[in-house]
Amino acid sequence: MNILLMGLPGAGKGTQSEMIANDYDMIHISTGDIFRKAIKDETPLGLEAKRYTDNGDLVPDDITNGLVKERLAEADVQANGFLLDGYPRTIAQAEALDANLADIDSNLDHVIYIEVDADILKERLSGRIMCSNCGATYHKVYNPPKVSGVCDVCGHTEFHQREDDTPEKVGHRIQLQMDSIRPILEHYEAANLLTKINGDQAIETVYREIRNILGE
Ligand code: ADP
Ligand code: ADP
Ligand code: ZN
Repeated sequence: MNILLMGLPGAGKGTQSEMIANDYDMIHISTGDIFRKAIKDETPLGLEAKRYTDNGDLVPDDITNGLVKERLAEADVQANGFLLDGYPRTIAQAEALDANLADIDSNLDHVIYIEVDADILKERLSGRIMCSNCGATYHKVYNPPKVSGVCDVCGHTEFHQREDDTPEKVGHRIQLQMDSIRPILEHYEAANLLTKINGDQAIETVYREIRNILGE
């Protein structure tokens, strides 16, 4: 099964993706995670991407499309299917994805849009923290680790905020992506692939709705 999980920054894509990838054995591909890792490792891709991610701007389409294309061609993705999180974010990316999938004789099964109001997104991103060791995502108030100060996944005890989760950058990212996401949603609606779900519900409730779409 091949799935796109769409939503504005803070909608809960990463949180839901972890659960979906676990239960459905799909390969989770997050362009944001790929860029953050490249930046941390100081690879050429990372140095280039940093110029954009630092300001909350989108990385240019040719760079992003190239790296997704390569990843989709890998054997694990071919065997298990993919869950794309945070891609496509422009109509040019959506068109490139259609062409890439056609090239490898593949297609999308579902496009899920997690809808959340901008005010709630801002509140979520202001409290988002990540495990400094494994990158697992939490929220200080809405989704803290089970044992206070200890990562559920790896037991590490240091957490940090993302550099682009400052109030100014959050506002900029939400506005920018609100504008670019609209035509993409129309694109997938026309292809009869789109389901919108209300993301302003408990994490487990959102997940149940996703499971209903994907089937058991
Ligand atoms: P969020 O969790 O806020 O939705 P991501 O972690 O998905 O954000 O992305 C972080 C940053 O990485 C974005 O602000 C952007 O600079 C870059 N990025 C991620 N995905 C894309 C994409 N599909 N196209 C262009 N830039 C992207
Ligand atoms: P995205 O990947 O779409 O940017 P995340 O999955 O990182 O979003 O979630 C953003 C923040 O909101 C995180 O701190 C996360 O713990 C929290 N969060 C995710 N889903 C919910 C929800 N349904 N209700 C409340 N907080 C949530
Ligand atoms: Zn951890």
